[in-house]
Amino acid sequence: MINERMYQLGSQPNYIRKLYAHGLERKAAIGEENVFDYSIGNPSIPAPPSVRTRIEELLEEPPEQLHAYTMSPGLQSARQAVADNLRERFGIDATFGQVYLTAGATAALYISVAAITYPGDEVIVNAPYFAEYKVMTESAGCTCVEVPMRQSDFQLDIDALRAAINEKTAAMIINSPNNPVGCIYTRENIEALAALLVEKEREVGHPIYLISDEPYREITYGADVPFTANFYDDTIVCYSWAKSLSLPGERIGYVYVSDHMKDAAAVFAAVCGAGRALGFICAPVMFQRVIETCISEPTNVDAYAENRQLLTDMLDELGYEYIQPDGAFYLWIRALEEDDEAFSEAAKAHELLLVPATCFGAKGWVRASYCISPETIKASRKAWEALKADYA
Ligand code: PLP
Repeated sequence: MINERMYQLGSQPNYIRKLYAHGLERKAAIGEENVFDYSIGNPSIPAPPSVRTRIEELLEEPPEQLHAYTMSPGLQSARQAVADNLRERFGIDATFGQVYLTAGATAALYISVAAITYPGDEVIVNAPYFAEYKVMTESAGCTCVEVPMRQSDFQLDIDALRAAINEKTAAMIINSPNNPVGCIYTRENIEALAALLVEKEREVGHPIYLISDEPYREITYGADVPFTANFYDDTIVCYSWAKSLSLPGERIGYVYVSDHMKDAAAVFAAVCGAGRALGFICAPVMFQRVIETCISEPTNVDAYAENRQLLTDMLDELGYEYIQPDGAFYLWIRALEEDDEAFSEAAKAHELLLVPATCFGAKGWVRASYCISPETIKASRKAWEALKADYA
Protein backbone atom coordinates (compact mmCIF):
# COMPACT_ATOMS: atom_id res chain seq x y z
CA MET A 1 0.00 0.00 0.00
CA ILE A 2 1.28 3.44 -0.85
CA ASN A 3 2.14 5.64 2.11
CA GLU A 4 -0.45 8.38 1.90
CA ARG A 5 1.79 11.06 3.34
CA MET A 6 4.59 10.29 0.92
CA TYR A 7 2.07 10.18 -1.92
CA GLN A 8 0.87 13.66 -0.95
CA LEU A 9 4.41 15.00 -0.74
CA GLY A 10 5.36 13.48 -4.07
CA SER A 11 2.25 14.28 -6.05
CA GLN A 12 2.03 17.89 -4.98
CA PRO A 13 5.31 19.46 -6.02
CA ASN A 14 6.18 22.41 -3.85
CA TYR A 15 4.86 25.75 -5.00
CA ILE A 16 8.28 27.22 -5.76
CA ARG A 17 9.21 24.34 -8.08
CA LYS A 18 5.79 24.63 -9.73
CA LEU A 19 6.30 28.33 -10.30
CA TYR A 20 9.80 27.68 -11.62
CA ALA A 21 8.44 25.00 -14.00
CA HIS A 22 5.76 27.44 -15.13
CA GLY A 23 8.54 29.95 -15.86
CA LEU A 24 10.40 27.42 -18.00
CA GLU A 25 7.22 26.71 -19.97
CA ARG A 26 6.54 30.41 -20.49
CA LYS A 27 10.15 31.04 -21.57
CA ALA A 28 9.81 28.29 -24.18
CA ALA A 29 6.51 29.76 -25.34
CA ILE A 30 7.22 33.51 -25.42
CA GLY A 31 11.01 33.84 -25.20
CA GLU A 32 13.38 34.02 -22.22
CA GLU A 33 13.55 37.79 -22.31
CA ASN A 34 9.81 38.10 -21.68
CA VAL A 35 9.66 36.12 -18.44
CA PHE A 36 10.86 37.65 -15.16
CA ASP A 37 11.57 34.69 -12.98
CA TYR A 38 12.22 35.67 -9.37
CA SER A 39 11.07 32.26 -8.11
CA ILE A 40 14.05 30.11 -7.22
CA GLY A 41 17.27 30.54 -5.23
CA ASN A 42 19.71 29.15 -7.77
CA PRO A 43 22.99 31.12 -7.55
CA SER A 44 23.52 33.17 -10.71
CA ILE A 45 27.29 33.48 -10.40
CA PRO A 46 29.62 30.65 -11.44
CA ALA A 47 31.56 28.55 -8.97
CA PRO A 48 35.13 29.87 -8.49
CA PRO A 49 37.70 28.65 -11.07
CA SER A 50 39.54 26.70 -8.35
CA VAL A 51 36.60 24.26 -8.26
CA ARG A 52 37.12 23.36 -11.90
CA THR A 53 40.89 23.12 -11.43
CA ARG A 54 40.40 20.74 -8.52
CA ILE A 55 37.94 18.56 -10.46
CA GLU A 56 40.40 18.35 -13.35
CA GLU A 57 43.15 17.31 -10.95
CA LEU A 58 40.92 14.69 -9.36
CA LEU A 59 40.06 13.20 -12.74
CA GLU A 60 43.73 12.25 -13.10
CA GLU A 61 43.44 9.87 -10.14
CA PRO A 62 42.66 6.18 -10.66
CA PRO A 63 38.85 6.05 -10.94
CA GLU A 64 38.44 3.11 -8.58
CA GLN A 65 40.21 5.20 -5.93
CA LEU A 66 38.54 8.50 -6.78
CA HIS A 67 34.98 7.20 -6.79
CA ALA A 68 35.31 4.86 -3.83
CA TYR A 69 33.04 4.98 -0.78
CA THR A 70 34.23 7.06 2.14
CA MET A 71 33.40 6.41 5.79
CA SER A 72 29.80 7.44 6.55
CA PRO A 73 30.63 10.92 7.99
CA GLY A 74 33.05 11.62 5.13
CA LEU A 75 36.80 11.69 4.59
CA GLN A 76 38.73 12.62 7.68
CA SER A 77 40.81 15.10 5.66
CA ALA A 78 37.71 16.91 4.38
CA ARG A 79 36.10 16.95 7.83
CA GLN A 80 39.37 18.30 9.25
CA ALA A 81 39.38 21.04 6.59
CA VAL A 82 35.92 22.10 7.79
CA ALA A 83 37.02 22.04 11.44
CA ASP A 84 40.15 24.09 10.63
CA ASN A 85 38.09 26.60 8.68
CA LEU A 86 35.62 27.01 11.56
CA ARG A 87 38.45 27.32 14.07
CA GLU A 88 40.25 29.98 12.04
CA ARG A 89 37.15 32.03 11.38
CA PHE A 90 35.27 31.75 14.63
CA GLY A 91 37.91 30.83 17.21
CA ILE A 92 36.20 27.61 18.20
CA ASP A 93 37.84 24.36 19.22
CA ALA A 94 36.47 22.24 16.38
CA THR A 95 37.95 18.90 15.38
CA PHE A 96 37.01 16.57 12.54
CA GLY A 97 35.19 14.40 15.10
CA GLN A 98 32.39 16.96 15.31
CA VAL A 99 31.85 17.34 11.57
CA TYR A 100 29.57 15.08 9.52
CA LEU A 101 29.60 15.78 5.78
CA THR A 102 26.22 15.62 4.07
CA ALA A 103 24.46 15.96 0.75
CA GLY A 104 23.73 19.66 1.25
CA ALA A 105 22.01 21.51 4.09
CA THR A 106 18.81 19.55 3.51
CA ALA A 107 20.42 16.27 4.56
CA ALA A 108 22.20 18.06 7.40
CA LEU A 109 18.88 19.35 8.72
CA TYR A 110 17.11 15.99 8.41
CA ILE A 111 19.96 14.31 10.25
CA SER A 112 20.02 16.95 12.99
CA VAL A 113 16.28 16.83 13.62
CA ALA A 114 16.24 13.02 13.66
CA ALA A 115 19.27 12.88 15.98
CA ILE A 116 17.77 14.94 18.79
CA THR A 117 14.00 14.39 18.71
CA TYR A 118 11.43 11.73 19.49
CA PRO A 119 8.04 11.54 17.78
CA GLY A 120 5.67 13.80 19.67
CA ASP A 121 8.32 16.44 20.39
CA GLU A 122 7.94 20.02 19.27
CA VAL A 123 10.40 21.88 17.04
CA ILE A 124 10.06 25.66 16.86
CA VAL A 125 10.60 27.50 13.59
CA ASN A 126 10.56 31.26 13.10
CA ALA A 127 8.09 32.38 10.44
CA PRO A 128 8.52 33.17 7.65
CA TYR A 129 10.72 30.11 7.22
CA PHE A 130 12.18 27.75 4.60
CA ALA A 131 9.18 25.52 3.91
CA GLU A 132 11.08 22.25 4.05
CA TYR A 133 11.48 22.69 7.83
CA LYS A 134 7.87 21.63 8.18
CA VAL A 135 8.37 18.53 6.04
CA MET A 136 11.52 17.50 7.89
CA THR A 137 10.15 18.01 11.41
CA GLU A 138 6.90 16.25 10.58
CA SER A 139 8.82 13.41 8.93
CA ALA A 140 10.50 12.89 12.29
CA GLY A 141 7.03 12.69 13.89
CA CYS A 142 7.44 16.10 15.54
CA THR A 143 5.10 19.07 15.59
CA CYS A 144 6.43 22.10 13.73
CA VAL A 145 5.56 25.08 15.92
CA GLU A 146 5.56 28.33 13.97
CA VAL A 147 6.46 31.50 15.85
CA PRO A 148 6.31 34.72 13.81
CA MET A 149 9.41 36.89 13.75
CA ARG A 150 9.04 40.41 15.13
CA GLN A 151 7.13 42.26 12.43
CA SER A 152 8.81 45.59 13.23
CA ASP A 153 12.33 44.48 12.30
CA PHE A 154 12.21 40.77 11.36
CA GLN A 155 14.35 39.74 14.30
CA LEU A 156 13.61 36.75 16.54
CA ASP A 157 10.67 37.58 18.79
CA ILE A 158 12.10 36.56 22.14
CA ASP A 159 8.84 37.09 24.06
CA ALA A 160 6.85 35.04 21.59
CA LEU A 161 9.51 32.31 21.70
CA ARG A 162 9.40 32.33 25.51
CA ALA A 163 5.65 31.72 25.33
CA ALA A 164 6.06 28.90 22.79
CA ILE A 165 8.70 26.84 24.64
CA ASN A 166 7.43 24.07 26.88
CA GLU A 167 8.58 20.66 28.15
CA LYS A 168 7.88 19.12 24.73
CA THR A 169 10.25 21.54 22.97
CA ALA A 170 13.23 19.58 21.72
CA ALA A 171 14.74 22.08 19.33
CA MET A 172 14.48 25.36 17.51
CA ILE A 173 15.60 26.01 13.95
CA ILE A 174 16.93 29.43 13.03
CA ASN A 175 18.24 30.65 9.69
CA SER A 176 20.40 33.74 9.34
CA PRO A 177 21.02 35.29 6.82
CA ASN A 178 17.44 34.42 6.20
CA ASN A 179 15.50 32.87 3.39
CA PRO A 180 12.98 34.37 2.57
CA VAL A 181 13.39 37.77 4.30
CA GLY A 182 17.10 38.50 3.83
CA CYS A 183 17.41 39.63 7.44
CA ILE A 184 20.39 38.81 9.68
CA TYR A 185 19.82 38.28 13.40
CA THR A 186 21.95 40.76 15.32
CA ARG A 187 24.39 39.85 18.05
CA GLU A 188 22.00 41.28 20.65
CA ASN A 189 19.16 39.21 19.26
CA ILE A 190 21.22 35.99 19.33
CA GLU A 191 22.44 36.80 22.84
CA ALA A 192 18.85 37.27 23.98
CA LEU A 193 17.87 33.99 22.34
CA ALA A 194 20.77 32.17 24.02
CA ALA A 195 19.81 33.59 27.42
CA LEU A 196 16.22 32.49 26.89
CA LEU A 197 17.22 28.97 25.87
CA VAL A 198 19.55 28.59 28.85
CA GLU A 199 16.74 29.73 31.16
CA LYS A 200 14.23 27.40 29.52
CA GLU A 201 16.59 24.40 29.56
CA ARG A 202 16.84 24.81 33.31
CA GLU A 203 13.09 25.12 33.61
CA VAL A 204 12.17 22.09 31.49
CA GLY A 205 15.13 20.00 32.68
CA HIS A 206 16.43 18.84 29.30
CA PRO A 207 18.46 20.25 26.42
CA ILE A 208 16.76 22.47 23.87
CA TYR A 209 18.97 22.23 20.80
CA LEU A 210 19.43 25.16 18.50
CA ILE A 211 19.72 24.02 14.90
CA SER A 212 21.37 26.88 13.06
CA ASP A 213 20.76 26.59 9.32
CA GLU A 214 23.49 28.66 7.67
CA PRO A 215 23.71 28.15 3.90
CA TYR A 216 23.83 31.94 3.36
CA ARG A 217 26.46 32.63 6.04
CA GLU A 218 28.87 34.32 3.60
CA ILE A 219 26.26 36.17 1.57
CA THR A 220 26.07 39.45 3.43
CA TYR A 221 26.22 43.10 2.41
CA GLY A 222 28.38 44.33 5.26
CA ALA A 223 26.44 43.20 8.33
CA ASP A 224 28.11 40.84 10.78
CA VAL A 225 26.67 37.32 11.05
CA PRO A 226 27.16 36.11 14.63
CA PHE A 227 28.37 32.49 14.76
CA THR A 228 25.58 30.99 16.82
CA ALA A 229 27.68 28.21 18.36
CA ASN A 230 29.75 30.90 20.11
CA PHE A 231 26.65 32.12 21.93
CA TYR A 232 24.76 28.99 22.86
CA ASP A 233 26.38 25.68 23.85
CA ASP A 234 23.67 23.35 22.58
CA THR A 235 24.04 24.44 18.97
CA ILE A 236 24.14 22.23 15.90
CA VAL A 237 25.21 24.04 12.74
CA CYS A 238 23.89 22.92 9.36
CA TYR A 239 25.78 24.28 6.39
CA SER A 240 25.94 23.97 2.61
CA TRP A 241 28.25 25.21 -0.13
CA ALA A 242 25.24 25.48 -2.45
CA LYS A 243 25.17 29.26 -2.22
CA SER A 244 28.63 30.34 -1.03
CA LEU A 245 30.46 28.41 -3.78
CA SER A 246 27.52 28.22 -6.22
CA LEU A 247 27.37 24.41 -6.05
CA PRO A 248 23.67 23.72 -5.38
CA GLY A 249 23.38 20.65 -7.58
CA GLU A 250 26.51 18.99 -6.22
CA ARG A 251 24.90 18.38 -2.84
CA ILE A 252 27.61 19.07 -0.33
CA GLY A 253 27.34 20.46 3.19
CA TYR A 254 27.83 19.42 6.80
CA VAL A 255 26.55 19.09 10.34
CA TYR A 256 28.78 20.56 13.04
CA VAL A 257 28.03 19.64 16.65
CA SER A 258 29.35 22.41 18.89
CA ASP A 259 32.32 21.45 21.01
CA HIS A 260 30.79 23.50 23.85
CA MET A 261 27.89 21.08 24.11
CA LYS A 262 27.93 19.07 27.34
CA ASP A 263 26.88 15.87 25.61
CA ALA A 264 28.63 16.62 22.30
CA ALA A 265 30.03 13.09 21.89
CA ALA A 266 26.61 11.48 22.40
CA VAL A 267 24.91 13.98 20.08
CA PHE A 268 27.54 13.37 17.42
CA ALA A 269 27.00 9.60 17.76
CA ALA A 270 23.25 10.24 17.30
CA VAL A 271 24.04 12.37 14.24
CA CYS A 272 25.97 9.39 12.81
CA GLY A 273 23.05 7.12 13.71
CA ALA A 274 20.55 9.43 12.04
CA GLY A 275 22.77 9.58 8.94
CA ARG A 276 22.75 5.79 8.88
CA ALA A 277 19.02 5.45 9.54
CA LEU A 278 18.11 8.00 6.88
CA GLY A 279 20.63 6.79 4.32
CA PHE A 280 22.61 10.03 4.33
CA ILE A 281 26.03 8.43 4.43
CA CYS A 282 29.18 9.20 2.43
CA ALA A 283 28.37 12.60 0.91
CA PRO A 284 29.31 12.94 -2.78
CA VAL A 285 32.98 12.09 -2.69
CA MET A 286 34.26 14.27 -5.55
CA PHE A 287 32.87 17.29 -3.76
CA GLN A 288 34.23 16.24 -0.41
CA ARG A 289 37.60 16.43 -2.17
CA VAL A 290 36.75 19.76 -3.82
CA ILE A 291 35.81 21.25 -0.48
CA GLU A 292 39.05 20.06 1.08
CA THR A 293 40.99 22.51 -1.09
CA CYS A 294 38.41 25.20 -1.96
CA ILE A 295 36.94 25.80 1.49
CA SER A 296 38.70 29.13 1.96
CA GLU A 297 37.62 30.57 -1.40
CA PRO A 298 35.97 33.92 -0.74
CA THR A 299 32.32 34.20 -1.74
CA ASN A 300 31.77 36.73 -4.47
CA VAL A 301 28.73 38.76 -3.46
CA ASP A 302 29.32 41.70 -5.82
CA ALA A 303 26.77 40.56 -8.39
CA TYR A 304 24.12 40.03 -5.71
CA ALA A 305 24.90 43.41 -4.13
CA GLU A 306 24.45 45.05 -7.53
CA ASN A 307 21.18 43.23 -8.12
CA ARG A 308 19.93 44.18 -4.68
CA GLN A 309 20.60 47.83 -5.48
CA LEU A 310 19.01 47.63 -8.92
CA LEU A 311 15.87 45.97 -7.66
CA THR A 312 15.39 48.09 -4.55
CA ASP A 313 16.01 51.32 -6.48
CA MET A 314 13.39 50.27 -9.00
CA LEU A 315 10.85 49.27 -6.37
CA ASP A 316 11.48 52.54 -4.50
CA GLU A 317 10.67 54.44 -7.65
CA LEU A 318 7.53 52.41 -8.20
CA GLY A 319 6.39 52.73 -4.59
CA TYR A 320 6.64 49.12 -3.40
CA GLU A 321 7.31 48.40 0.26
CA TYR A 322 9.98 45.83 1.15
CA ILE A 323 12.39 44.80 3.91
CA GLN A 324 15.92 46.00 3.18
CA PRO A 325 17.92 42.75 3.02
CA ASP A 326 21.24 42.51 4.88
CA GLY A 327 22.09 39.10 3.45
CA ALA A 328 21.11 36.13 1.24
CA PHE A 329 19.63 37.04 -2.17
CA TYR A 330 15.96 37.43 -1.45
CA LEU A 331 13.73 40.47 -1.20
CA TRP A 332 10.62 40.34 0.99
CA ILE A 333 8.05 42.58 -0.62
CA ARG A 334 4.66 43.63 0.77
CA ALA A 335 1.87 42.24 -1.42
CA LEU A 336 -0.56 44.87 -2.68
CA GLU A 337 -3.48 42.87 -1.30
CA GLU A 338 -3.91 40.73 1.77
CA ASP A 339 -4.12 37.52 -0.21
CA ASP A 340 -0.50 36.93 -1.21
CA GLU A 341 -1.41 33.94 -3.40
CA ALA A 342 -3.85 36.08 -5.39
CA PHE A 343 -1.15 38.75 -5.63
CA SER A 344 1.36 36.20 -6.92
CA GLU A 345 -1.21 35.10 -9.51
CA ALA A 346 -1.74 38.73 -10.55
CA ALA A 347 2.04 39.08 -10.97
CA LYS A 348 2.13 35.87 -13.00
CA ALA A 349 -0.27 37.43 -15.48
CA HIS A 350 2.55 39.92 -16.21
CA GLU A 351 5.12 37.08 -16.45
CA LEU A 352 6.52 38.20 -13.10
CA LEU A 353 7.16 35.15 -10.91
CA LEU A 354 7.04 35.89 -7.17
CA VAL A 355 6.65 33.34 -4.38
CA PRO A 356 3.73 34.03 -2.01
CA ALA A 357 4.40 34.31 1.73
CA THR A 358 2.02 31.41 2.36
CA CYS A 359 4.82 29.13 1.12
CA PHE A 360 6.90 30.29 4.08
CA GLY A 361 4.26 30.13 6.82
CA ALA A 362 3.41 33.84 6.59
CA LYS A 363 0.82 36.09 4.97
CA GLY A 364 0.68 39.29 2.99
CA TRP A 365 4.14 39.33 1.37
CA VAL A 366 5.97 37.80 -1.59
CA ARG A 367 9.57 36.72 -2.03
CA ALA A 368 11.67 37.79 -5.00
CA SER A 369 14.95 35.87 -5.55
CA TYR A 370 17.34 38.34 -7.11
CA CYS A 371 20.06 35.83 -7.97
CA ILE A 372 19.21 36.43 -11.62
CA SER A 373 20.76 38.51 -14.37
CA PRO A 374 20.72 42.31 -13.98
CA GLU A 375 19.23 42.47 -17.50
CA THR A 376 16.21 40.49 -16.29
CA ILE A 377 15.80 42.85 -13.35
CA LYS A 378 15.93 45.88 -15.64
CA ALA A 379 13.59 44.33 -18.18
CA SER A 380 11.09 43.40 -15.44
CA ARG A 381 10.33 47.06 -14.72
CA LYS A 382 7.35 47.11 -17.05
CA ALA A 383 5.85 44.08 -15.31
CA TRP A 384 6.24 45.65 -11.85
CA GLU A 385 4.64 48.82 -13.22
CA ALA A 386 1.72 46.92 -14.73
CA LEU A 387 1.22 44.98 -11.49
CA LYS A 388 1.13 48.21 -9.50
CA ALA A 389 -1.36 49.65 -12.00
CA ASP A 390 -3.64 46.62 -11.41
CA TYR A 391 -4.03 47.80 -7.82
CA ALA A 392 -4.24 51.53 -8.48
N1 PLP B 1 18.04 26.06 4.18
C1 PLP B 1 17.70 27.16 3.55
C2 PLP B 1 17.28 28.34 4.34
C3 PLP B 1 17.69 27.22 2.15
O1 PLP B 1 17.32 28.34 1.53
C4 PLP B 1 18.10 26.08 1.43
C5 PLP B 1 18.10 26.07 -0.03
O2 PLP B 1 17.70 26.96 -0.72
C6 PLP B 1 18.46 24.93 2.15
C7 PLP B 1 18.42 24.96 3.52
C8 PLP B 1 18.84 23.68 1.44
O3 PLP B 1 20.15 23.74 1.01
P1 PLP B 1 20.80 22.57 0.14
O4 PLP B 1 20.50 22.88 -1.28
O5 PLP B 1 22.23 22.64 0.46
O6 PLP B 1 20.18 21.30 0.58
